[in-house]
Amino acid sequence: MIKTDILIIGAGPTGLFTVFEAGLLKLKCHIIDALAQPGGQCSELYPKKPIYDIPGFPEVLAGDLVDNLMEQIKPFQPGFTLGERADDIEKLEDGTFIVTTNKGTKHHAHSVAIAGGLGSFEPRKPLIEGIADYEDHGVAYMIKDPEVYRDKKVVIAGGGDSALDWSIFLTDVAKEVTLVHRRAEFRGALDSVEKVQDLVTQDKIKLITPAEVTDVKGNGKVESVTITVHDEAKRFQEIECDAFIPLFGLSPKLGPIANWGLEIEKNAIKVDNSLDYQTNVPGIYAIGDVNTYPGKLKLILCGFHEATLMCQSVYQRMNPNKKYVLKYTTVGGIDGFDGSRKEAEKAVIKKIDS
Ligand SMILES: Cc1cc2nc3c(=O)[nH]c(=O)nc-3n(C[C@H](O)[C@H](O)[C@H](O)COP(=O)(O)OP(=O)(O)OC[C@H]3O[C@@H](n4cnc5c(N)ncnc54)[C@H](O)[C@@H]3O)c2cc1C
Repeated sequence: MIKTDILIIGAGPTGLFTVFEAGLLKLKCHIIDALAQPGGQCSELYPKKPIYDIPGFPEVLAGDLVDNLMEQIKPFQPGFTLGERADDIEKLEDGTFIVTTNKGTKHHAHSVAIAGGLGSFEPRKPLIEGIADYEDHGVAYMIKDPEVYRDKKVVIAGGGDSALDWSIFLTDVAKEVTLVHRRAEFRGALDSVEKVQDLVTQDKIKLITPAEVTDVKGNGKVESVTITVHDEAKRFQEIECDAFIPLFGLSPKLGPIANWGLEIEKNAIKVDNSLDYQTNVPGIYAIGDVNTYPGKLKLILCGFHEATLMCQSVYQRMNPNKKYVLKYTTVGGIDGFDGSRKEAEKAVIKKIDS
């Protein structure tokens, strides 16, 4: 059982910044995300795009913003459960919560902050009969640890950035990389498209287009895939492989959170924005894109603000008899849970001789 003060569901910018604000109040955080990496929409949908409306950053790449947030929260040593979806919640008699993921990982927390954005990103799966039987036995819809594919024969399907980038990356890891796409055109960063072209020319990636994987075969695990090539003859090709990785993008779904007894309006969680972004269940908060209230704006800076106020509320719930006094970080500095300390230089009183 993982224990924490605030369990954050969603490692998007809002969830990540929550760790910082909670850390200032000496509250420990643990984050669950269905994706294999932190950053939410910024990492998954537009890591290379510049954002122009983050205060203090005239321009910052979404991926760099995530890297900076990860750096900023490092002293507060957040725990991560990545690649798992928060599925169930149970409120205990003492008002604390147990949240269980789809993989059975249990988390015990004083308060829960849902920072689930548009919902958990679920992979778009190809319509291949029986493919579910091979999930986790060679079929994967996202790559958590590329080392799993070391010296393996891998077939990747897809025509976007993920398919291109992982095909490139795995040429240095896997024994054989085959990339299958239903069109000859790929949609992605120019340098990735050009790099794949180079690797195809060097025979390091076997490219099959326009084509799609239409069958997966094997005895308990993937052993081969059938590829239907959409040329005039409509050929079928059998490829021996250890892994089949369809990377067709992700679609967000509020998913199981919708059944947690929370008030939902238009696929978002209603919160009390006059106070602390708490939901109708005391101790469960919703912040960032996932919530709704009059005048809500789905912007990163709004998520940061909501996270800050929410942490104050959790602090008061945990310490009902303590009075919180706001301290600027320029004055109080930052005490990391890792023993680190950051502080501005102190003023001195020193005589200046005339
Ligand atoms: C193309 C594009 C450009 C944008 N440009 C800007 C911009 O210029 N400025 C700006 O302010 N905003 C911009 N946005 C919006 C901005 O990205 C969002 O406001 C922001 O990402 C919201 O952050 P979040 O942390 O609330 O949610 P998200 O970033 O959506 O992160 C939520 C995370 O929660 C996870 N999750 C959800 N449910 C579960 C569950 N049950 N279990 C586990 N994990 C779960 C998801 O997997 C996801 O990783 C843009 C969005 C897009 C798509």
